[in-house]
Amino acid sequence: MDKTIPASIRLRRPLRMDDHVCENEILETLYNIASKNKIWRSYIGMGYYNCSVPQPIARNLLENAGWVTQYTPYQPEVSQGRLESLLNYQTMVCDITGMDVANASLLDEGTAAAEAMQLCHRHNKRRKFYVDSRCHPQTIAVVQTRANYTGVITELKLPHEMDFSGKDVSGVLFQYPDTEGKVEDFSELVERAHQNGSLACCATDLLALCILKPPGEFGVDVVLGNSQRFGVPLYYGGPHAAFFAVKENLVRMMPGRMVGVTRDANGKEVYRLALQTREQHIRRDKATSNICTAQALLANMAAMFGVYHGSDGLRHIARRVHNATLILAEGLRRAGHKLHHDLFFDTLMITCGCSVKEVLDRAALRKINFRIYSDGRLGVSLDETVTEKDLDDILWIFGCESSAELIAEGMGEETKGILGTPFKRTSKFLTHQVFNSYHSETNIVRYMKRLENKDISLVHSMIPLGSCTMKLNSSAELTPISWKEFASIHPFVPLDQAEGYQQLFKDLEKDLCEITGYDKISFQPNSGAQGEYAGLAAIKAYLNAKGERHRTVCLIPKSAHGTNPASAQMAGMKIQPIEVDKNGSIDISHLKAMVDKHKDNLAAIMITYPSTNGVFEEEIGDVCDLIHKHGGQVYLDGANMNAQVGLCRPGDYGSDVSHLNLHKTFCIPHGGGGPGMGPIGVKKHLAPYLPTHPVIKIQLDKDACPLGTVSAAPWGSSAILPISWVYIKTMGAKGLKHASEIAILNANYMAKRLEKHYKILFRGARGYVAHEFILDTRPFKKTANIEAVDLAKRLQDYGFHAPTMSWPVAGTLMIEPTESEDKAELDRFCDAMISIRQEIAEIEEGKMDPQINPLKMSPHTLNCVTSSQWDRPYSRKVAAFPLPFVKPESKFWPTIARIDDIYGDQHLVCTCPPMEAYESPFSEQKRASS
Ligand SMILES: *Cc1c(COP(=O)(O)O)cnc(C)c1O
Repeated sequence: MDKTIPASIRLRRPLRMDDHVCENEILETLYNIASKNKIWRSYIGMGYYNCSVPQPIARNLLENAGWVTQYTPYQPEVSQGRLESLLNYQTMVCDITGMDVANASLLDEGTAAAEAMQLCHRHNKRRKFYVDSRCHPQTIAVVQTRANYTGVITELKLPHEMDFSGKDVSGVLFQYPDTEGKVEDFSELVERAHQNGSLACCATDLLALCILKPPGEFGVDVVLGNSQRFGVPLYYGGPHAAFFAVKENLVRMMPGRMVGVTRDANGKEVYRLALQTREQHIRRDKATSNICTAQALLANMAAMFGVYHGSDGLRHIARRVHNATLILAEGLRRAGHKLHHDLFFDTLMITCGCSVKEVLDRAALRKINFRIYSDGRLGVSLDETVTEKDLDDILWIFGCESSAELIAEGMGEETKGILGTPFKRTSKFLTHQVFNSYHSETNIVRYMKRLENKDISLVHSMIPLGSCTMKLNSSAELTPISWKEFASIHPFVPLDQAEGYQQLFKDLEKDLCEITGYDKISFQPNSGAQGEYAGLAAIKAYLNAKGERHRTVCLIPKSAHGTNPASAQMAGMKIQPIEVDKNGSIDISHLKAMVDKHKDNLAAIMITYPSTNGVFEEEIGDVCDLIHKHGGQVYLDGANMNAQVGLCRPGDYGSDVSHLNLHKTFCIPHGGGGPGMGPIGVKKHLAPYLPTHPVIKIQLDKDACPLGTVSAAPWGSSAILPISWVYIKTMGAKGLKHASEIAILNANYMAKRLEKHYKILFRGARGYVAHEFILDTRPFKKTANIEAVDLAKRLQDYGFHAPTMSWPVAGTLMIEPTESEDKAELDRFCDAMISIRQEIAEIEEGKMDPQINPLKMSPHTLNCVTSSQWDRPYSRKVAAFPLPFVKPESKFWPTIARIDDIYGDQHLVCTCPPMEAYESPFSEQKRASS
């Protein structure tokens, strides 16, 4: 450690926290905390609904390490399972909304709405954006906050007040059905917007659309919402997958990741992430958004919900919810209450005909929550789980003498609700075979297992992804997320029903402050990139409050993660890139020159530490001083805390704010591309500016001046915080420090073993790397016509997932072993890399064909090595079992040959296609919804 970490920043004392506790004991403690959450029946709605999580999906997907510990599917040959499932998600969203293309999830409904606003702004460059005041309050708050920093002007209005004739409005966001539950015809508004070159964005609800005319059928350009009620628990606000769908002409402006269809080297139809070059990794400040980690696991759950139920099942659920609401409405009217809207799906807005207090007292007796509007009106939103008994309870609460059964009998056939109006959905959806094949538990379980088996995850081998910290996600950490005390609680219940969560937040905040050296934590950002945006917005709010609104320049080294510039852009900052020297460190003289150049307008620097190149730079303290001296703030990208916990603290060596990727260092599993949590830690002076929430009052200091709202839920993806909590408690101060030491030791051990065979790109001042290191594979291009991608694909034949490819340096591989892997696994990986180096040497020496060799032809599928034809200049054994540890009985087989990215880029297909759909990318979708 002394040779790796600069002495000037070392933490010289143990972390002040409880001693480690064994797993069984800590789970008992946590259960006691969880039990302080009161699980009432919540009919609050507002984008969050109770639902029946199908047990086959809960057990075989959500609670299954084979699905949960996968990485983002950047290596399609070993990721076909989740790519297929995410494509199902996209197809399902397109079908149900009636749109052309959908992405593979966003973080939540609020941020999806903010992305829609930004898409409109990018599309026609206009500054003004209308928001219908009947959107959910948290949606409005997230959009307004984003607009505030990006320079978009939002106006809250009702449709008839919206004037587009000035041709200065980029678009309009409305909600259908709206937050009050009303179903309304928006086609005239959409038409007016279109006539003036404005886009129309619709927030909506997938379950409602199963029986309600979808937005795609009245001309909407962007459709978004939360897919939570498709079989994902309430989770006190998250994680859930938001959906986002657009018309065909906007596909290249779509934020986030999208799965597309392409072919492999054998011409087989296969899946991969489409249009990857639009992503923030490469496009930096020109990216379509800063989304990196999204909500893959939850999108997979929702997709399986659709696959399991099919369109008949979903329509049945929707009708049942609607019928229950019709019965309730009738009962409420009879009891003398006033309903504000006649056309609704599942939500009623009520002015009580009696005392509201009386109603609420009775609700409390039955442990039932309703939405309470500030003016005393009440909202009731029903859901899939509502039984006759629940309806009777609600009727009793509202003083209705009759029962649900009697009311239903008296209603007769003529009460059809929206099904008796032009709003009734007539178009088919989910007609594709995948949604019509797995409606029994026998079949859905086999389908999920079949997909799971196509994907490499941590249950197979190490996933040595530099900067992504794919470490052990222990079972004890994961168990609590299935407890109903954490899972079945609505984010907007009164705080006294969520005391367990509140205690957990406080406790985790205390430990994370001690680990980082910060004074306060906000748990609102639900990904690392969201944390960056929130942290920079806090800096901006702080500077504005000091009267330094003109400070807008953000310095970002060229080696930074692509989310950094994309987030700085979102926070309304001007980006000044800083050069990186040949050692991979910040070019100090260039930094000094740029600080001097921008000293009057300097807002912040964003730096990653240890640097993205895997070294602890000696000058970090000086860099922080330099920025502070010139009136700027230091944002330290804390994604790489895995090298620092217990050893040094950003808050000590000069940083003002960081996000922590709890889905990296703090053991939340990657989920195949999410969920994540990106809480931010700040020093005292930034604490007053941390995010707030429009529905739930987060406890803030009395001098608070919040930056706004960054996520739909007050504490982001609350339900995965117990994972990090259990991790910290079972490790204790000593264990946490020890983990960092082993992570660094492992990286240095591997670097040492590999240095005789590959060039290690960067090292610290005394010759040691931090917790990750870069292998330079660029020379092989000249000597053997071999590129980083060939090594990455060849590693699959050895049973490994590739390291991070071509980042932060193009043409290289970045390896991060973490502390979770034992020496035997590190050695297997090194053996594989050394063996591949020998294969390259054979090409260099002319012993192996430069085109047809084990690297260029990799990966080798079972189909390939068992085919009756074999005409290659190397053996089948070399192809599939290149080293003794790669054994037939345990080998992981890539299921497809090498992906053809170029073909996919030229033929964009993002819904489940039949083969003949290739000529016309969107014909499948059109067929499904016509
Ligand atoms: C992972 C990572 C991020 C982005 O985090 P997400 O949760 O994926 O948004 C930012 N910076 C660095 C250095 C990272 O490794």
